[in-house]
Amino acid sequence: MVTAVLEIWIPIFIFLFGLAIGSFLNVCIYRIPLPDVSVHSPRRSFCPACNETISVYDNIPVLSYLILRGKCRHCIAPISTLYPLVELATAGLFLVMYYRFGLTLEFLLALIFVAVLVPIFVIDAQHYIIPNVLIATGLILGIVIICAIAYQRGDVWYLLIRLIGAVAGGFALWLVAVIGSAVLRKKAMGGGDIKLMALIGLFLGAWPELAMVIGFSAFSGAVVGTGLIIFGIKDRQSPIPYGPFLAGAAVIVLLWGDSLWRLYLQSVGWN
Ligand SMILES: [Zn+2]
Repeated sequence: MVTAVLEIWIPIFIFLFGLAIGSFLNVCIYRIPLPDVSVHSPRRSFCPACNETISVYDNIPVLSYLILRGKCRHCIAPISTLYPLVELATAGLFLVMYYRFGLTLEFLLALIFVAVLVPIFVIDAQHYIIPNVLIATGLILGIVIICAIAYQRGDVWYLLIRLIGAVAGGFALWLVAVIGSAVLRKKAMGGGDIKLMALIGLFLGAWPELAMVIGFSAFSGAVVGTGLIIFGIKDRQSPIPYGPFLAGAAVIVLLWGDSLWRLYLQSVGWN
């Protein structure tokens, strides 16, 4: 009976927890790229249009957006649809990770990964930067949980393969950046992408995960980039941030990397 009740409530709790974290990530997404505000100061959220402090009951994830019909209560300036989208995406990803990993340390590791990848995705798409504070937070929390998992499993290799992944990931993308810049005769990739790939290597491990992330992100980046040029949203010269594609590929490989790799090996007749 107790387990049956828990089975219903745990996913609901995780989804609500994801909404709350998503709400905090919105604060990070808005504030980190700004020079004069920090994530913790001012303490309360404010309307970017009129600077009015947002009351607690107007700051409930998704719900407040719907009740206010996407407008600020004070100045009726429109609230970006990005806010509820980030909250829903975070909550959705938290739930998917729960169904993939259950209540384990691996689940906790996946939540930390999502919580840094979501703001990196949005900030890089908007501002073409990947803030160091997000990379550093991910690296520190990641290493702590990975050590705990390695200890729990009594498996040093679990830790080693991820440290190798971090170094290999950073090095692989650094190499792509150097070769790309030489061939294209312009800056092919930012330092942020290199650091992000090191972070991804830490969370996913070295082989074959890193190769899959590079493959998926390069492919989806090329498809989306071509689409944006065809539909006239971007021209050939305007930069397209690579971070969102790396982040998206990393989530896919975290969730389904094993099965996709097995499928690939079967398709080329190795298994
Ligand atoms: Zn306002």
